[in-house]
Amino acid sequence: MSSYIPVFPNEACLCGSGKRYGDCCQPERLWHPVCPNPGRQGYSLVKLQTATFRNVNGDVVRERLMADRRLRCTDTSQASAFWVFHGDPVVEDQYGILCFGDVELKHNRTLLVTGMSDLRMQMLLALLQEIAGDCLAEPRMSQDPVLVIDKNTGKMRSIRTSKPQSSKRRLRRRQRRR
Ligand SMILES: [Zn+2]
Repeated sequence: MSSYIPVFPNEACLCGSGKRYGDCCQPERLWHPVCPNPGRQGYSLVKLQTATFRNVNGDVVRERLMADRRLRCTDTSQASAFWVFHGDPVVEDQYGILCFGDVELKHNRTLLVTGMSDLRMQMLLALLQEIAGDCLAEPRMSQDPVLVIDKNTGKMRSIRTSKPQSSKRRLRRRQRRR
């Protein structure tokens, strides 16, 4: 689902940078999609991303996730389960309840966490850390392409956004060079 949100040059940019729109995304060549932040605290740039935890103890993780009222199980079988996270507190509008991400257990061994923005992913990972941090190792992060619109041609195309950890990696590289 997408909708249009009016924004003026002097207002805060909707991408969540904290800059004026006129100094941030207005001069950009592309329109980037944004999505609402948890608790309706503004918006963030869409960055479709997945965190993959491997070799998890499926029985333990499943039991912990089932017991947490913030996650809603929508599908479960012997080896797999699927939960959606509706935020805390839940945000409801005329289209229904907003989903802020989901968690999937596969083959009782792999846990996939999917979120639409860096902020949503941070929140999901913090939630998992709280519920099952003692039995989860570091996840592997991956990203999917995002659809953007060229402001001149109106054409849509998919681009790869930067990796969530890229700023940290760049910093490390810079420190090595010094
Ligand atoms: Zn911006």
